[in-house]
Amino acid sequence: MTLLQAASVTATPDPVGLEERYAAHTYHPLPVTLVEGEGSWVTDAEGNRYLDLLSAYSALNFGHRHPRLVAAAQAQLGRLTLTSRAFHNDQLGPFCEELSGLVGLDRVIPMNTGAEAVESAIKAARRWAYDVKGVPADRATIVTAQNCFHGRTTTIIGFSTDPQAQRGFGPFTPGFRPVPFGDVGALEAAIDATTAAVLLEPVQGEAGVIVPPPGYLAAVREVCDRHGVLLIADEIQSGLGRTGRTLACDHDDVVPDVVLLGKALGGGIVPISAVVARREVIDTLEPGSHGSTFGGNPLACAVAREVIDMMVSGEPQQLARERGAQLARRLDVLTSATGEPSRVAAVRTIGLWAGIDLAPGAGTARAASEQLLAHGVLVKDTSDTTIRVAPPLTISAADLDLALDRIVETVGSLG
Ligand SMILES: *Cc1c(COP(=O)(O)O)cnc(C)c1O
Repeated sequence: MTLLQAASVTATPDPVGLEERYAAHTYHPLPVTLVEGEGSWVTDAEGNRYLDLLSAYSALNFGHRHPRLVAAAQAQLGRLTLTSRAFHNDQLGPFCEELSGLVGLDRVIPMNTGAEAVESAIKAARRWAYDVKGVPADRATIVTAQNCFHGRTTTIIGFSTDPQAQRGFGPFTPGFRPVPFGDVGALEAAIDATTAAVLLEPVQGEAGVIVPPPGYLAAVREVCDRHGVLLIADEIQSGLGRTGRTLACDHDDVVPDVVLLGKALGGGIVPISAVVARREVIDTLEPGSHGSTFGGNPLACAVAREVIDMMVSGEPQQLARERGAQLARRLDVLTSATGEPSRVAAVRTIGLWAGIDLAPGAGTARAASEQLLAHGVLVKDTSDTTIRVAPPLTISAADLDLALDRIVETVGSLG
C-alpha cells in the first residue's frame, strides 16, 4: 500500500481523542470541536452552528476571520513574516507609532503573549525604580490586586491569590503585595519607599468581570502620583473596545504610566502583545536588557496595525456601547424576575461584557455552559458559579438577541 492509499483509507480522525492522549490536560474544554468560524458564528465537525459569546477571552473582539484583518495578514504573508530584531523591518516602527498614538503614551515594547507583556512591564518598572526613583538594589515592590489574573508564568502566578494557579509551582518571585481590589485605602497602605508600581486590571476579567467602584481608578492615579509610583494598567482583556471605550481606564479619564495590551491586538489571527509606556520608563532598557525572537515580527505588526486603524475609527467602541446597552437590558430580567426564586445572584456589565453569578441552587456555571452549548451558544464558566459573556464587538443586534434569548431561557430555568 502506498502512502497515498493509506491516507485515503484513514478512518475518521479523532482529534479530541488525540488531544486527550497527547496534549497536557491543563484545560477542561466544553465538549465541542470547532472546525470553522466566520464573524460571530462557529461550526463544529457535524455542521452544527454556534454563536461564540466567549470570543477567545476577548482575543476575537472583531469576530472570526474579519475580512480586513485576514486581508492584512495575507498581504503581509506575501511580503515578509519574520526578521528577528537583529534587523529592522518596515512594520515595527509604524506599529509602535500608531499604537502609541492610540493609547496616548510614548513608546512600545513589542512582545507576543499577554503574560510576556506583564513580565516586560514588571522588568521596566523595577528598572525605573532603581535607575530613576532611587530604590535600593533588589528591594523594589509592586502592589497588585487580590483575585487578579495577569497570566501563567512563574513570576506572575507568584502574586496570584488563586491556590489552583499556584499549587506545586513555588518558590515564587518576591516583591509583590496583593491588596483587595477596589479599596484605595488598602492600596495606599501597601505603598512605601520601595514601591515601584501598582499593577491592576481596570476591570477584573477572569475574576468574573469585576468592575471597581466609581472613581476608584482616578483615586489610584492620585495615590500613585502622590507617592511617585507608576500605575500599570493591564488592559489585555479590558482594552481595545471591550468596555465601550478604547481602554477601560478611559471611563475614569485616567492615563496610566504603562498600558498592557494583547489578546485582540492580534485580531484573532496572531499572538501579539505590547507594553505602551511613558518614555522615562521604557528608556531605562538598553540593548541586551530585554528581547524576544518573535516580538515585533512584521506579520503580527501588520495585523495589529489594521486592528489599530479600526480602533482609530471609533466604530468598535461605538458597537460595544450599542450592543452593550442591549446586553445589559436583556440580562436585567435575570435579577429583576419576580415570583420564582431567582437563578441569578448578580449580573455585572460594562460595555459588551458581562459576568453572571448564579444563585445557590442553580448548579454550577460549568453545567450552565454545557446547557447553553446544547442550545447553540458558546460561553464559559470563569469560576464555579460565574459565567462570562463577551461576544465579538461586531455581533449583529439580531444575533445578540438570539443568543440572549437562549441565555435568559436557559439560565432562568437552571437548577
Ligand atoms: C489573558 C490575560 C493575560 C495573559 O495573556 P496570555 O496571552 O494568555 O499570556 C494577562 N492579563 C489579563 C488581564 C488577561 O486577561
